[in-house]
Amino acid sequence: MALDTSSPVSLTALPYCPSAFGFRRRRTHVVMVGDVGVGGTNPIRIQSMTTTRTQEVEATAAQAERLVTVGCEIVRITAPTVQDAKAIGEIRRRMRSRGITVPLVADIHFSPAAAMEAANHVEKVRINPGNFADSRQFAIREYTDREYEQELERIEERFTPLVLKCKALGIAMRVGTNHGSLSDRIMNRFGDTPLGMVESALEFLRICQKNGYPDVILSMKASNPKVMIQAYRLLVARMDEIGMTFPLHLGVTEAGNDEDGRIKSAVGIGALLDDGLGDTIRVSLTEEPEAEIPVAARLAAPYQEAAERRFVSAPDPRETRDPYAFTRRLASEGGAGTWRIGGRETMRALQAITASNGTAPAGLVERAVALATAARPGAPAPDAVELPGDTAEQRGELRELAARLATEAPTVSVAARLTPSADHPDEAAAGAAVIHWVSPDPPLPDALLRAVAAHERALILETRVDGPTADAAVDRLLAWARRSIAAGIAAPSLAISSQDASTTIRAYRLLSARLHEAGLACPLHLVAPASDTPYERLLRTSVALGGLLCDGIGDSVEVRGEDERPSTRLAFNVLQASGARISKTEYVACPSCGRTLFDLQPVTDRIKSVTGHLTGVKIAIMGCIVNGPGEMADADFGYVGGAPGRVNLYVGKECVEKNVPQEQADDRLIALLKAHGAWTEPEHGG
Ligand code: SF4
Repeated sequence: MALDTSSPVSLTALPYCPSAFGFRRRRTHVVMVGDVGVGGTNPIRIQSMTTTRTQEVEATAAQAERLVTVGCEIVRITAPTVQDAKAIGEIRRRMRSRGITVPLVADIHFSPAAAMEAANHVEKVRINPGNFADSRQFAIREYTDREYEQELERIEERFTPLVLKCKALGIAMRVGTNHGSLSDRIMNRFGDTPLGMVESALEFLRICQKNGYPDVILSMKASNPKVMIQAYRLLVARMDEIGMTFPLHLGVTEAGNDEDGRIKSAVGIGALLDDGLGDTIRVSLTEEPEAEIPVAARLAAPYQEAAERRFVSAPDPRETRDPYAFTRRLASEGGAGTWRIGGRETMRALQAITASNGTAPAGLVERAVALATAARPGAPAPDAVELPGDTAEQRGELRELAARLATEAPTVSVAARLTPSADHPDEAAAGAAVIHWVSPDPPLPDALLRAVAAHERALILETRVDGPTADAAVDRLLAWARRSIAAGIAAPSLAISSQDASTTIRAYRLLSARLHEAGLACPLHLVAPASDTPYERLLRTSVALGGLLCDGIGDSVEVRGEDERPSTRLAFNVLQASGARISKTEYVACPSCGRTLFDLQPVTDRIKSVTGHLTGVKIAIMGCIVNGPGEMADADFGYVGGAPGRVNLYVGKECVEKNVPQEQADDRLIALLKAHGAWTEPEHGG
């Protein structure tokens, strides 16, 4: 059945999951990839891709084997040419002779002939609908309806033989759309939008359906998590509309390496898993592929066994988000001192300084001052540092901190954390710009509200989700918000803490919707879910806060941990990955594959080391010119492998220097940054 994507359907009216306030994994049909079932009730499958040259058969087989050893369930290998496709046959033979039966996937771009050959040797063929049958050069042109039809006929002619071959051999296919490599046809009619990505896949899906071939898995990857999240949701909404149940392969492309790569992947993949979407995932890191597997496994773990769950006991409130297009929720403006929030204000970060074992209370002030004054390019200080303010001694420290920051870090505000044990809340209000009331229970002293209003302080009201639903916590916050507003506090911020990412996301969604119903626009202070280990905290924070920020929910963020520096860094990195606040250079780095023309990992590290101090610049580091220029998406500058030992440099999408010897390429990139006003000299010489 053909889908009319031009119909005047209200996208917000299309559901992409049964409830935004409940969890249920989307039921898809099962596609067998060898003996690994993807979709249905199968576990979320973990996969990766080799980075060796495919024709280096032994090296590729060995890397695939290492991937299997660490838990990879499906291994992809690039097949740029027919020769590479044949080499996969030999790789397969060697692996099978060693008893390794992991399904293999051939990754195809531009070459239907390579796809036809590869189909003989693998359990799945991945094609990119943007370049399977299209040219490498984007051209701007208007397509008449007739010309568009003719293009589709041409694609059908080229694609049908592969569909029929995969069907005859009983192997699977992935129609893998990439935001950065859409066809001319799609770009000219839809632009590089989520809708264009969906239509790109549907053009190919219709051909599969026409030929009675259901063994297709779909992906909608982008390096921008927001675009990727919207595209997958839109795809599901469209498929549901016409009764398609194809399984989904999730991934964020060109995520980069280290903490940033993990955060970006977790934001995009995690948000969708939490929507109940995704049957197999690949985390793309610019590292050895084995490093991707534990990240993917940890992201999938909470959803592998997850039962259906509701976070609201009443009928769902009306959703206020548009899940298919980013719009920041409009909150009332408020705040005090330099802590300005809501409206179009910058997304703020608050960092609590907590007493860990053996830390003398007096040490808290020094730690807070050290954090507030340690800002440097790419690593900002939090907008507010917070100390407890329950006792007279603690309030003395708050005053001391306020006095120190007034001269040593005047852009950083002081926040006081008060709990129901506070005896003199009005004194605390006098010492701090932000009062952060944290209570799991109803009491909220009138004296505190009077003090906050009288001293014109900012107020954050936080409670906790304790039971299976978020109803009670949301009701409590609504009551507190009304009392605060009645007391003369115009824009109290509201916050909810919880133990896991799912609860955090649903509780804030529910709070946002209930506020809207009540005609209130209080800012929302996002608190990261609790975690036992730093690594778990990194992933959970990325999923929960990143997911909310990509949906436009949130005005300030807080990541808790005994060590305030990594917590602050994580908060800013999640803001950056979600596009909510840019504080450092952004890198789009491909994970490398058999096409890569230079050693991506050291080159990426080197470029990061010389450009990491810049702010608001996006630099792409891509292994080849076949896919690199297309997939570096909206990067400002590109460093792309042009030939062995040679690099092509880009400004935006335009190649401005070709075949630069690799040993000169870093300097030439810096010269380009300078010529375009994107360079500042690093402090401390480096
Ligand atoms: S851009 Fe990188 S991952 Fe993509 S095909 Fe080229 S080398 Fe491989």
